[in-house]
Amino acid sequence: MATDGKVITCKAAVAWEPGKPLCIEEVEVAPPKAHEVRIKVVATGVCHTDWEYLFETGKGMKFRPFPLVLGHEAAGIVESIGPEVTRVSPGDKVIPLFLPYCGECERCLSPKTNHCKKNWTNMQAGVLADGTSRISCKGQQVYQFLGVSSFSQYTVVPDTSVAKIRSDAPLDKVCLLGCGVSTGYGAAINAGKVEKDSSCAVFGLGAVGLAAVMGCKVAIARRIIGVDINPDKFEKARQFGATDCINPRDYSKPIQEVVVEMTGGGVDYALECVGSPAIMNAALESTRDAWGTCVIAGWTETETMSISVEKLLMGRTLKGTYFGGWKSVKDVPKLVDDYMNHKLKLDEFITEKLPLVQINKAFDLLKSGKRTLL
Ligand code: NAD
Ligand code: ZN
Ligand code: ZN
Repeated sequence: MATDGKVITCKAAVAWEPGKPLCIEEVEVAPPKAHEVRIKVVATGVCHTDWEYLFETGKGMKFRPFPLVLGHEAAGIVESIGPEVTRVSPGDKVIPLFLPYCGECERCLSPKTNHCKKNWTNMQAGVLADGTSRISCKGQQVYQFLGVSSFSQYTVVPDTSVAKIRSDAPLDKVCLLGCGVSTGYGAAINAGKVEKDSSCAVFGLGAVGLAAVMGCKVAIARRIIGVDINPDKFEKARQFGATDCINPRDYSKPIQEVVVEMTGGGVDYALECVGSPAIMNAALESTRDAWGTCVIAGWTETETMSISVEKLLMGRTLKGTYFGGWKSVKDVPKLVDDYMNHKLKLDEFITEKLPLVQINKAFDLLKSGKRTLL
């Protein structure tokens, strides 16, 4: 490519400081170094976590360095590769991933976890393996969000954080497999291991929750109860397979009591897709005391959860999931296949499409319950 080995000047949405809207800026994206891949970002979702890092930093989220380019749910095309990259070539369609898969470490070799720690510390600190970012603006280093930074027309990611996908995959759909959909779907399938004919409750019906509903449906659950304070979510949840939809605001008693009554003792599986300790407790308490499983997919980094030990002693299981338990680079191409084979829905998650310059509008829409693609 003509740009190979050169700095690329392009547009990106830069977060100069927490709590302030993003600014569309011209940025420089340096060529990839060893084991790095430069990607032309074709489509990116706007995930709740992007919003949280900007507006909840220091509250639900730990502090991360600014200025920063957010965005972590994307798909694109490899523009160029650095030395020693063997997994992808220029022109390949790819999904960059915030969770690495090196394929060699103890965790990658174990079926028990997907939590590869390759580049983990530096990615959390907003830089690549050499301790610097490849993005700069006005002569200043701009940190990379979770090693991805997809709110930029180009970005550079480690080769252990990029999944090569089939060439006929539509990038403006499969980008959703970079975070929300894979997380919710895997929360049901991998973490919960939802069984046929079981009963499930999904708390929060955003992209993660709808994907969890879809996972329960694929697992042939008998009953799937969707719970959300926004009733606008219910129609879509039903399309995804929810058999009942309930709004906690319609009841004077705690929602877990409602779920327990509706199911004659509690659901077999509850999936928390909101990110609030109070709802995590409600989800746990809505499961059947003898064998219920509660999976936490919702995110908080700073808050703690206080649970009644008795709720566990009787036989419940409480677990969390990161990226739905999928081994990122290895499993995401299979999820793309599942979408292409009509096993997974993706199109139905997208409610709006906007250009990158309207990113702040996309954040506003997210807060009103809409999922936007840039
Ligand atoms: P979203 O904002 O699109 O959806 C959240 C939903 O929860 C909304 O529909 C909202 O109305 C609903 N909600 C809010 N308060 C509620 C309450 N009290 N009771 C019931 N419903 C309530 O968010 P999303 O993109 O679907 O993400 C959901 C959560 O998952 C976030 O916390 C996000 O950070 C987290 N997440 C975790 C992982 C992971 O790896 N575990 C990955 C991606 C996202
Ligand atoms: Zn690994
Ligand atoms: Zn996300």
